[in-house]
Amino acid sequence: MSETFPFDSAAVIGLGLIGGAVVRDLAARGVRVSAYDRDPVQLEAARSDGVVSRALDASLRGLGEVQLVVIAVPVDAALDVLRLVAAQVCAAGSRTLLVTDVGSTKGRIESLAVELGLAQRFIGSHPMAGDHRSGWSASRAGLFAGAPLYLCAPPGAAAPTLGLARRLWSELGASLVEIDAREHDLRVAWTSHLPHMVAATLGLALARGGFRRDDLGPGGRDMTRIAGSSPEMWTAIGIDNAAAIDETLAAAEAELARFRDALRRSDAGRLRERFIAARAWFDQ
Ligand code: NAD
Repeated sequence: MSETFPFDSAAVIGLGLIGGAVVRDLAARGVRVSAYDRDPVQLEAARSDGVVSRALDASLRGLGEVQLVVIAVPVDAALDVLRLVAAQVCAAGSRTLLVTDVGSTKGRIESLAVELGLAQRFIGSHPMAGDHRSGWSASRAGLFAGAPLYLCAPPGAAAPTLGLARRLWSELGASLVEIDAREHDLRVAWTSHLPHMVAATLGLALARGGFRRDDLGPGGRDMTRIAGSSPEMWTAIGIDNAAAIDETLAAAEAELARFRDALRRSDAGRLRERFIAARAWFDQ
């Protein structure tokens, strides 16, 4: 194990794109990694790549023996996983120093962690790294290097626990942004969830017009790449952060309505004004 790495053992629950990247990075630093995925294909793929020391079963028994627990499943499933994790981590004799998750929303899981008595050992994480692909085969080592990563400490979090979370992600190369969980969810509704909803909408609108992604030029392909993201993951995010996303969609609808209005009136002046304003935003 690296001299500076703060954990000798870890358990990662969920071996998709993000969990897989965490496993690979931890194993590369000499950490003994236990892992579980409800999909046996993902678990077997991780084992055959030689980076998982021990496979856990659905009960997650044995979890309290590891120093670090990382939950990397869709945000709805993460709540049930956290309940199982808390039962083991809060039991007498547990060695666990830090429980974290990598979900794209942070408010609900933080509240549950506090409710389950984990406030002193839980810090929420959200790496702004990823891909539209999912699953173990899409994961790679070094995914977090240079990526921004939000860290959300619950009110009353223990300073040493926060220190461990900072060290974990800094060692994996992320640039940390510490933020309150509620503020995080409002912010990512604009910066991440709105772009996803718009990319999906664009794909659906093109389908109505009878066009495939292959028919698009480079600009259209750029704009629709994330329409290929995991439906399960994005359904869970949408439901979790629905109120905040609704506000962003209302803003997008209002902007589209202004475009339509200018076009219907053949109002070149207004249309041009809108493109000038968009470019001013782009140039900022
Ligand atoms: P993924 O679909 O690649 O992997 C999720 C894995 O979790 C799958 O292998 C699935 O079988 C497993 N799983 C689902 N429910 C489970 C359960 N109850 N118990 C055990 N395993 C279970 O998804 P991902 O992209 O790795 O996303 C994981 C988390 O990271 C999500 O919460 C997502 O919001 C967050 N995230 C994703 C990205 C991204 O770009 N993909 C970026 C930042 C954060």
